[in-house]
Amino acid sequence: MNTIFLIKNVEVYAPQHLGKQDIIMAGGKIIAIGSQFSAGGSDLPLTVIDGSNNIAVPGFVDSLVHFIGGGGEGGFASRTPEMQLTDATLGGVTTAIGVLGTDATTRTLTNLLAKAHALQTEGITTYCHTGSYQVPCRTLTGSITDDLILIDKFIGVGEIAISDHRSSQPTTDEIRKVASAAKVGGILSGKGGIVSVHMGAGERILQPIYDAVAGTELSVKQFYPTHMNRNRSVFNAGLEFASQGGVIDFTTSTTAYDLEHGEVAAAQALAEALQAGIEPIQLTLSSDGNASLPIYSKSGDLLGLQVGQVSTLYQSARDAILKHKVSISDAICAISQAPATVLGLHQKGRLAAGLDADLVLLNRDDLAINQVFAMGRQLVIAGKATVKGMFEK
Ligand code: ZN
Repeated sequence: MNTIFLIKNVEVYAPQHLGKQDIIMAGGKIIAIGSQFSAGGSDLPLTVIDGSNNIAVPGFVDSLVHFIGGGGEGGFASRTPEMQLTDATLGGVTTAIGVLGTDATTRTLTNLLAKAHALQTEGITTYCHTGSYQVPCRTLTGSITDDLILIDKFIGVGEIAISDHRSSQPTTDEIRKVASAAKVGGILSGKGGIVSVHMGAGERILQPIYDAVAGTELSVKQFYPTHMNRNRSVFNAGLEFASQGGVIDFTTSTTAYDLEHGEVAAAQALAEALQAGIEPIQLTLSSDGNASLPIYSKSGDLLGLQVGQVSTLYQSARDAILKHKVSISDAICAISQAPATVLGLHQKGRLAAGLDADLVLLNRDDLAINQVFAMGRQLVIAGKATVKGMFEK
């Protein structure tokens, strides 16, 4: 049976600050947010939660996760493993977007879709992008437009790689074709139809996108570049892109190696971009979960690989608040409302009556994740997973 939850007396960031409120969730939806709701003498299956020591924020939206693993850039043994349900839920992620990556040969869209359905059955909301790094894109039906129109879980295309040694070096015209196909697919299916762009460390940075947009009816707003904190020049190029109306994404999975080699930590990147006057709704964080994070020696030999963690998404938002003085609203916006908006997920990313009941309760004192609800189901209590994936211990 579906439990009805009444969270009493909780400080709400929706992500805008609403003060102390009561929240009612039932049937997978937020029914109402207001004050002084009473359980009364009702014999409904109602669970009342005292939220007075908590902050309620929207469930987190992770716009880039390698559900079925990624990598393989150090040979077959370096292919990273699949994500599990609690990798997401323990990090407060209730909506995740799965992508392929460098490898669209041994990793396939059919497998990605199957995993997305599995995770949805287990408890979170999932979507995917068709395509991969490569352009022209691998698709399921033979067409990006058809994939978006005919397959519910596909909401965009990518991450297509530009300015990267692993990219297919797409021409300006090829990028235009990808964007126009995604745009038409998005229009006809009522989806975002965005082009997720993997930004490499190459010197051209965003120039391939500007070239693609120039002289056409395309807009920079349809392109959603990720890894924009990869180094200082990429970060600065991202600020310029945002000043033209685009949305930029900072990657939260990182290594000491990356930070020593010029990566701007996502929390710091968010703080600096806000200080530079970029609107919060144009700034997102994503985990790049289950990507491979290679570590190289000084001479460029591969020393080892780490695996991206979905849990870094909220850790970075929390760091932004605690270490970089970003407001709770702005930090939470970057992992909820902003990614939901750019992806066209209108039921996600905010706390409001009528939207999906995806909600995280944080501890007021240390902002640690205490409880997680996804589609009105309680998946985490007191920081521990109460629901696990099929093959998790
Ligand atoms: Zn990438």
